[in-house]
Amino acid sequence: VSRRGVRGNFIPPIKSNGSNIGNITSRIAGNKGDDSLDESTKKCLEILCGPDGELPEKLRNLEPRLIEHVSNEIMDKDPNVHWDDIAGLDHAKSCVNEMVIFPLLRPDLFMGCRSPGRGLLLFGPPGTGKTMIGKAIAGEAKATFFYISASSLTSKWIGEGEKLVRALFGVASCRQPAVIFVDEIDSLLSQRKSDGEHESSRRLKTQFLIEMEGFDSGNEKVLLIGATNRPQELDEAARRRLTKRLYIPLPSSEARAWIARSLLEKDGLFKLSNEEIDIICNLTEGYSGSDMKNLVKDASLGPIREQIRQGAKVVNLEKEKIRPVTLQDFKISLQQVRPSVSPNELGTYEQWNKQFGSLA
Ligand code: ADP
Repeated sequence: VSRRGVRGNFIPPIKSNGSNIGNITSRIAGNKGDDSLDESTKKCLEILCGPDGELPEKLRNLEPRLIEHVSNEIMDKDPNVHWDDIAGLDHAKSCVNEMVIFPLLRPDLFMGCRSPGRGLLLFGPPGTGKTMIGKAIAGEAKATFFYISASSLTSKWIGEGEKLVRALFGVASCRQPAVIFVDEIDSLLSQRKSDGEHESSRRLKTQFLIEMEGFDSGNEKVLLIGATNRPQELDEAARRRLTKRLYIPLPSSEARAWIARSLLEKDGLFKLSNEEIDIICNLTEGYSGSDMKNLVKDASLGPIREQIRQGAKVVNLEKEKIRPVTLQDFKISLQQVRPSVSPNELGTYEQWNKQFGSLA
């Protein structure tokens, strides 16, 4: 028998051993007794309990459904991205190694003056690998990865964002080492102030800064990574807490070649010569990593489109006889897939990087 969790996600059947669930549920605020929680919620809470069977202090006053949401929807148990999957960005990788990976591997070396900051900002145009870096950090550091988009806190969790933020930091602290990745962090910590600002979003922001302050001063192995396409919207308080600020620029020509080659190779479709790859790189100046991915996807459909144009029926196509992807396919797709970042936007990032970024 399979069941569904409170938010509709699939939860495999759980055999409860009935151990300390009673203890746990009786300690949760607003709980009306053991029967008011379903099995998956109980299981989530049980995992978070300490060796003494007690729920950690930070989680005791939180609603179980929020804790469950963080554990099931926000926590990514297997981000499955590694440094080698990310093209270019050597400066960012070496900064991150020093700031996060090494201290997690050798905490005894990185103490006192050498203790790392707990807040990292990744800024730059969309689709350049910021989320990938966050996931790779968690993978390389063997840390638990939490992903949340800040705009969902303000839009989807209206009035509850503050509680969810507490649950997020609470669960992360039970799951150390942990990486909390906040996408679109500008929408949470922006400098647009007072007048138009709702009371609830002001409270949300305050709560967020309090939580950051909390783990910054303690010995917790929790890193906050904020990602944004609009760094100029961040206020001074946000900048102060995100001590390292790394510019994640558009991919270089080599990085674009690498992305195209590795995507095609993964599917056994790579048959281009070095000269042809060079031509593709020259034609894709200004494309982001995700633009490159879209371009490759479109170009790889070229051979199939061609056969259909010639009258073939898709159901009759023989996979082995489909021709390889050519430079011509790329040239056609370049008309369809245009770069998503405009050159004048880049100026803004470079300016901000000069002023506030951790330069190479
Ligand atoms: P961002 O968070 O900066 O908006 P993502 O990390 O979500 O961008 O990247 C979107 C997609 O684009 C990735 O899943 C990946 O396929 C591709 N991509 C972007 N940058 C790179 C890169 N440097 N190396 C490899 N793939 C990349």
